[in-house]
Amino acid sequence: MRRVSVFGSTGSVGESTLDLLARRTDCQVVVLTGGRNVARLAEQARAYRAELAVTAHDACLPELRAALAGTGIEVAAGSAALVEAGARPADWVMSAIVGAAGLAPGFAALAQGGVLALANKESLVTAGALLKAEAARHGATILPVDSEHSAVFQALVGEDIAAVEKVTLTASGGGLRDWPVDQLARATPADAGRHPNWAMGQRITIDSASMFNKAMEVIEAREFFGLTPDKIDVLIHPQSLVHALVGFTDGAVMAHLGAPDMRHAIGYALNWPARAPLPVARLDLAQAGRLDFHPPDPARYPALGLAWQVMETGGTAGAVFNAAKEAALDAFIDGRIGFLDMAWLVAETLETFARNNDISREPASLSEVLETDQEARSRAAALARGLPRPGAA
Ligand code: NDP
Repeated sequence: MRRVSVFGSTGSVGESTLDLLARRTDCQVVVLTGGRNVARLAEQARAYRAELAVTAHDACLPELRAALAGTGIEVAAGSAALVEAGARPADWVMSAIVGAAGLAPGFAALAQGGVLALANKESLVTAGALLKAEAARHGATILPVDSEHSAVFQALVGEDIAAVEKVTLTASGGGLRDWPVDQLARATPADAGRHPNWAMGQRITIDSASMFNKAMEVIEAREFFGLTPDKIDVLIHPQSLVHALVGFTDGAVMAHLGAPDMRHAIGYALNWPARAPLPVARLDLAQAGRLDFHPPDPARYPALGLAWQVMETGGTAGAVFNAAKEAALDAFIDGRIGFLDMAWLVAETLETFARNNDISREPASLSEVLETDQEARSRAAALARGLPRPGAA
């Protein structure tokens, strides 16, 4: 039996992972974790006979304990409990907590030397070098679950990374892609939270509309594949059928295509290095009819360019970028700042942080990354407080 844990099981990627696990008989679920959706976490823990269910919030523990009373399933709460759960023996661990909160549990899981299936893009963006060093130290494998990175990974099977000339990540353009640019400042969280092609959590859906998500993915691609920043680019592809393209020095381009369904990338990581049938819709190109591509407009997506700034700076710039982005997103979701303020806020946080700290120095430890995260988060939150509320005169 393969021992499998799912961090962030109550979320969009977590649910898709459990859907695939439900179809298998060779996996034993060890740990499931959630945040505030305690009822769903308890339901999952019962259905999958998990050993341990963990909620991120101490205040949710009594509800979780009551919901699982008499089942023999262990319960725990809090960020330390999530890290301890990461260290619980498992052969395959899905890292699908949203945000920087996913970093430490995934890091702990690497010490077991198994597979870390990485959906949590914040991990590589904030602590790429540390994560890779930890994986190497323990002989663990990090597999990409983001669909674009899974696509690149698949296109690179049997290839020499030195022969890669360009990696192109595609982007749908998000829920506001057809809005006039001069209207974007007025977009609400509900407007930005509608995705044209993918069903995902609220935060990543808004990040798709701003392209902060793509900026994160560009940095993640650099970390995953060891590419220099000039070898990565982004194209808008409204149909979301081509997930990534890899161009080689001989002029050949390998594209990865498939229906927009996260169960493909999750299933690939679950079956890797083999392939096995997956319950995803088959691609029908005749029905699709056309595949469109165009470069992103920097005026529409000011967040995207910040990825190259972060990559050129290196060090803790990724941690500052992500923390500021999360704080900006919180402020936008709460109606405290406007849609376009998010990119301004993150750029400003990066700049003020760089003025007062040596952010190009590589962090020596995970705790240094987490300290930077906290500091950048509070600076961004303070900057957000200084901005006028949307709609204010
Ligand atoms: P969701 O918002 O749907 O789910 C997030 C999960 O994390 C839930 O289980 C949630 O619990 C839990 N959670 C929330 N806050 C915390 C916290 N502070 N500490 C611990 N757990 C917490 O996110 P997605 O599934 O959409 O995304 C998960 C990760 O995967 C993100 O990093 C995202 O960027 C990445 N990703 C997602 C894709 C997608 O298609 N959705 C595609 C590629 C990557 P609860 O809901 O119970 O509060």
